[in-house]
Amino acid sequence: MDRDKGINKTDTRAEPSLSSSVSEVYSWYQTNSHGLSFSEAETRVKKYGKNTLERTRKKSIYIRFLKNFSHLMAILLWIGGIVAFIAGMPQLGVAVWMVNLINGLFSFWQEFRAEKAADALMKLLPVKVRVIREGQSMEISAEDLVPGDLMVLSEGDHISADARLVEASQLRVSQSTLTGESHPVKKIADPFFGTDLSKIEYPNYVFAGTSVVSGTGLAIVTTTGMGTEFGNVAHLTQGIEEDKSPLQQEMVHVTRMVTIVAVSVGFLFFLMLISLTQVNLAESFIFALGMIVAFVPEGLLPTVTLALARGSQRMAKRHALIKRLSAVETLGCTSVICTDKTGTLTQNEMTVSRIWLPGSNFHVTGVGYEPKGDITPEQGEFTPEIQTRLKQFLIAGILCSNARLIPPKPDGTGWTILGDPTEAAILVAAEKLGIRYEQENHEFPRAREFPFDSRRKLMSTIHLGTEDQVVYLKGAPKAVLDISTSYYEGSDKRELEPEMRAGIIAVNDSFAEQGLRVLGIAMKTLPYSGSYENPEEVEHDMTFLGLIAMMDPPRPEVAEAVKKCHHARIRIIMITGDYGLTAKSIARRIGIITGDNPRIVTGADLDQMSGEELKNALNDEIIFARVAPEHKLRVVETLRECGHIVAVTGDGVNDAPALKKADIGVAMGISGTDVAKEAADMVLTDDNFASIVNAVEEGRAVYANIKKFTGYIFTSNTPEAVPFILFAFSKARIPLALDVMPILSVDLGTDLVPALALGSEPPEPGIMDKPPRNLKEHVITRSLLLKSYLWLGPIQSIAVMSAFFFQYWTHGYWGQIFDLPAEGPIYHSAVGMALAAVVTTQIGNVLAHRTERSSIFSIGFFSNRMIWIGIASELIIILIIIYVPFFQEIIGTAPFPVENWLFLFAWAPALLLAEELRKGVLRKFEKTRVKIENTGEIA
Ligand code: ATP
Repeated sequence: MDRDKGINKTDTRAEPSLSSSVSEVYSWYQTNSHGLSFSEAETRVKKYGKNTLERTRKKSIYIRFLKNFSHLMAILLWIGGIVAFIAGMPQLGVAVWMVNLINGLFSFWQEFRAEKAADALMKLLPVKVRVIREGQSMEISAEDLVPGDLMVLSEGDHISADARLVEASQLRVSQSTLTGESHPVKKIADPFFGTDLSKIEYPNYVFAGTSVVSGTGLAIVTTTGMGTEFGNVAHLTQGIEEDKSPLQQEMVHVTRMVTIVAVSVGFLFFLMLISLTQVNLAESFIFALGMIVAFVPEGLLPTVTLALARGSQRMAKRHALIKRLSAVETLGCTSVICTDKTGTLTQNEMTVSRIWLPGSNFHVTGVGYEPKGDITPEQGEFTPEIQTRLKQFLIAGILCSNARLIPPKPDGTGWTILGDPTEAAILVAAEKLGIRYEQENHEFPRAREFPFDSRRKLMSTIHLGTEDQVVYLKGAPKAVLDISTSYYEGSDKRELEPEMRAGIIAVNDSFAEQGLRVLGIAMKTLPYSGSYENPEEVEHDMTFLGLIAMMDPPRPEVAEAVKKCHHARIRIIMITGDYGLTAKSIARRIGIITGDNPRIVTGADLDQMSGEELKNALNDEIIFARVAPEHKLRVVETLRECGHIVAVTGDGVNDAPALKKADIGVAMGISGTDVAKEAADMVLTDDNFASIVNAVEEGRAVYANIKKFTGYIFTSNTPEAVPFILFAFSKARIPLALDVMPILSVDLGTDLVPALALGSEPPEPGIMDKPPRNLKEHVITRSLLLKSYLWLGPIQSIAVMSAFFFQYWTHGYWGQIFDLPAEGPIYHSAVGMALAAVVTTQIGNVLAHRTERSSIFSIGFFSNRMIWIGIASELIIILIIIYVPFFQEIIGTAPFPVENWLFLFAWAPALLLAEELRKGVLRKFEKTRVKIENTGEIA
């Protein structure tokens, strides 16, 4: 492939190398600072192909297919089949093997579907890159990058192709994916004349697979796809093979345990039969096999995987993309959500509403990014002098910004922005006074930038002026004041005395108390002589210009989500880079803070606190404000030490450690950096706090659903086992109502679709009114076993045995249970009745398992369509088994009189009614408990 040979194959000059100048690089790749034209980019995609890596498959599909036929249970069934052949019952042998085959195919299909669902979710997370084409900065999909594209790099970006830098400002890149070295590497745009460097050590190149840790840059793509350094070394598997989640591990364990118990019980029965009854060896063996098969929950594990996958699909519909299946279950246990403010709790649609310059106060009208509105002084006249100062202030603000305003498009989209909303808001305010970015930028071109960083809380830019260079700076007001020594009063420059500082802080606080986000703006001149490599060399002795305050209204749905969290006993802790008073005002508005005196802990306070102090502080209502991302990590660690299950949000590069450390790292899909998205377990496609809460609700629902179908499957084990028990203890005088084949037809036939349907139940009302589940809690609890085996199971067993006897009693054996014929048409039709009774009672059972606490009538009888499809499927299967001769033969059934269905359907509601009764009592009991708790009475 020629994609790695450079662009210009007819060019006789040498391919650019690390010592080439920027202009040589531009010319070799036939481009310039305006980037490629759209048509050229299209031509190059055709010529060089998409920027994708060829994937090597993880495990052959055949091996994964075969795995479903070689686990412990499958091996047991294979052997069981062989023994059946040897024992002279080829029919049974074939049937057992068929069952094994169907079970394996079913499991494989479930796994396959779960994997497809996960793949589909990943596709919703395309990697985007910012490029310049035809002079416009735009976002494109990383796979559309071509050699010659001008790539814009900023903090947190994932680099998607190899590229030569043409501009770099404070650029540091983590190349750990290529070199294993975790320390970020400094990158430059200048030609480099060193020798003996391997390609990945080139300081003026960036490489695919690496990411920007800090700073900004502009780079020309040199190589894409498999030609990149990453493509050369990547043995990319199709995603990392996922570890089994704790829940899946638990299910493996449960299935194994149950198999061992079932085999032991089966063996015990085998011994009992040959010693207590006259049943011969071969038949005893079949009965024992029946017991084993009856108890082993064959389809449980794949159904759990599928339920998790279905849960993550439902979460995706509610804007939360899950990257690890295990996160689904952890989400359900979340007890604390640490959230940042801007964009997550608020809309991140900034509108400047107030401006303050020493001596003047302005109101700004208009909402959103449309530059429509006015700036008017609060009092007094808008004198030319004041206008000039305001202009100077806004010019400083916009020149020290990277955002762009995008006018409305013909398709109806209004004014939009590219870049940081805080900066865009300043651009909009400036436009309201007729100040255009392009014009100002032309007059004072930018020479250098020290990008915003959430530790310094400052950003500054150096511009070329006529005599001197000009520095514009903006940032958190206190940070700006800390490095300012003077301010303008009219056109006079005055020293910044403590009173003036206090005055500015008071204005800042009054804005912040209204929930406004405030930035300070400052400037200074700088002689041309001198090198300015680091922000510290520039960001001092500034002249303070004023404050700009913007509204960022809370998202409308957040207050409701906060309420939901409080009901669900989930704590919310705001950890923001913004100012304490702003944070407090917003927190109060959306209900995170309800007390009178929340504690506001700043990053500086946190640095002073001991571990114990922090633990104590975390018991109070608390807001962390003006913190750096590193502080987040400490809070998360401490909360985890206190035993909490912590979800934490983040968007920047520095948030990655906290995202990794938390039980659930939540990255912002829109504003988040690629690095944060990579570190997270979940990505929000709408950056919205409410989506985290929805995901928690879905996580709880998934776990509840897994419990529901486990309970459902376990219940029918009882009526499957009872006939064997009666048969053995009556010394074979009570005929066996359900033999191996009928049992298998339930476990691997009629029960399957209804169990799956329970896996897709929507969250039950009230699911968010309970405290979070303990992460160590097991799916199979004592109460689940009691409910299945000692409550619903016995009722179902009575139904099944009564249906079995009913057929005898209505055929001349009235009242008799012993010494009934154990073969012939009556026996087989009685087996048919017993089997049909399992199925009809399972209808009530599946409905009963739809809820844990609520009455099914309160959630809507028909609200889960899948349940009714499941019920229809089991009825169709049972009709086939009873009425189609071929299946009658295999399963050992015979038809019974049609009116007997009335008897069978009379049993259908039994389990549902029993459960409604139990749940009703439970709810009543809980209500009384809550009442006692609320009134303080002692029961
Ligand atoms: P959160 O952490 O909740 O998302 P945040 O976005 O306000 O809140 P930071 O991005 O760390 O947190 O910003 C901290 C402060 O820095 C802001 O309150 C603001 O005063 C200032 N600031 C934010 N963005 C910029 C920017 N682009 N340029 C200069 N200063 C900024």
